[in-house]
Amino acid sequence: MMETECTIAAVATPAGEGGIAVIRISGKRAVDICGKIVKAKKPLSKYKERRAIYASIFEGDKFIDDVIVAIYRSPASYTGEDVVEISCHGSTYITQLILDLLIKNGADPAGPGEFTKRAFLNGKMDLAQAEAVADLIKAKTESSRRVAAMQLKGGLSKKLSEMREELIKVMSLIELELDFSEEDIEFASRENVLKLIERIKEELEYLLQNYRRGRICRDGINMVITGLPNVGKSSILNCLVQRERAIVTETPGTTRDTIEEILDVEGIQVKIIDTAGIRNSGDLIEKEGVKRAKQAVNIADLVILVLDGSVETGEEETSLIKWLIGKKTEILCVVNKTDLPIKKSEENFNKIIPDLDKVYISAKTEKGIKELIRKITEHALKKGMPGGEEILITRERHKTALQNAVVHLEKAYESIQKNMSQEFTAFDLRGAAQEIGSITGRITTDQILNNIFDEFCIGK
Ligand code: GDP
Repeated sequence: MMETECTIAAVATPAGEGGIAVIRISGKRAVDICGKIVKAKKPLSKYKERRAIYASIFEGDKFIDDVIVAIYRSPASYTGEDVVEISCHGSTYITQLILDLLIKNGADPAGPGEFTKRAFLNGKMDLAQAEAVADLIKAKTESSRRVAAMQLKGGLSKKLSEMREELIKVMSLIELELDFSEEDIEFASRENVLKLIERIKEELEYLLQNYRRGRICRDGINMVITGLPNVGKSSILNCLVQRERAIVTETPGTTRDTIEEILDVEGIQVKIIDTAGIRNSGDLIEKEGVKRAKQAVNIADLVILVLDGSVETGEEETSLIKWLIGKKTEILCVVNKTDLPIKKSEENFNKIIPDLDKVYISAKTEKGIKELIRKITEHALKKGMPGGEEILITRERHKTALQNAVVHLEKAYESIQKNMSQEFTAFDLRGAAQEIGSITGRITTDQILNNIFDEFCIGK
């Protein structure tokens, strides 16, 4: 158990009014400090743990609030230390008053993520699980909840530690051979080591391939609406969000910046980004809008390409379509204004966009909008909903570590094939194991720890 000198306290519930608010205290003196401001039937330290204790908070003789107190004794608590949770009436004034009293009586204010950091340092969870706590707190949809819950349950950690242990085992055998180098003994059959390296490399590459998917499950899909000016992009956005968010006008080029809306599509977060119409423009502001629209397309997981069905496809539209197809992003083509006479001749049109998924709609009459939503849902479900037990990596940090591990494995493989000294093989096997271990925090620097826990808010 890590010995932390100070006992920390913070409000664990969000700022603002609520039915109740919870103040959390963790550390060796948690019960002792709370005992100084809490009055119950008997002294706080005499109560059993994990019980709801009805009590009152006093500042000297002055009554402050009636509360419920729960005690958790080390190591059976969230942080692994003694923890006390005080549930008081949910007023910001009262919670601040109680927190101040705790600090006056010897507690230190907790920093962001400090409770979870202590849980990690005390071995209650590994780093990947601590990250999952942050993700779970931020989860807004079923897919982000599901991927974080799986990580918190230890799915990713278990898979990674199995691979790490296998690597360490063969590395130790190879290192042992070094001690017997004069006798030329082979403790680890090279054929088997090569097979192991290949298998683990494949597993890592599979996780890496699914990184984008993991990120989408965690953060949702970026869906960009693009097309020439005046084709009806903003009108479609309005239909999708069912309110007048974007300004719809008859002058081309009014959406000069990007507009964002968040939708929950069957449990997947879809961020809709409406962009300025893409065309060559002399207007400076509009030029900036077009630049942003192009940038938005670069980060899109799905592009909604809107075309005006009531006009023929001209040069500008053709070059936009070609540019988009070159981006290799998934494109859903929406032919709008079908309430007007259609001018896009099927034959010509199909030549320009032969293989694109197409929907015919009218933003004005809302005809076809349901079909559009169905198609968007189909795309979203395909990309952004993890399977029941699916293990995914969701962070750049994980991706970099696994990429480094793959490089080490390739080098270890090569050193065996080229009959190089065992030292080289052992070195790279160790390197791969360390990179894999860094995800769960077997080896971590303070810098990495600070980056991770800074992401939390205070009280978590
Ligand atoms: P954007 O520049 O692509 O965002 O286009 P807007 O949504 O601002 O629409 C441009 C013009 O087309 C406006 O006058 C809209 O009322 C009109 N418009 C949009 N959708 C339709 C449609 O389905 N049918 C018809 N007839 N007009 C539409």
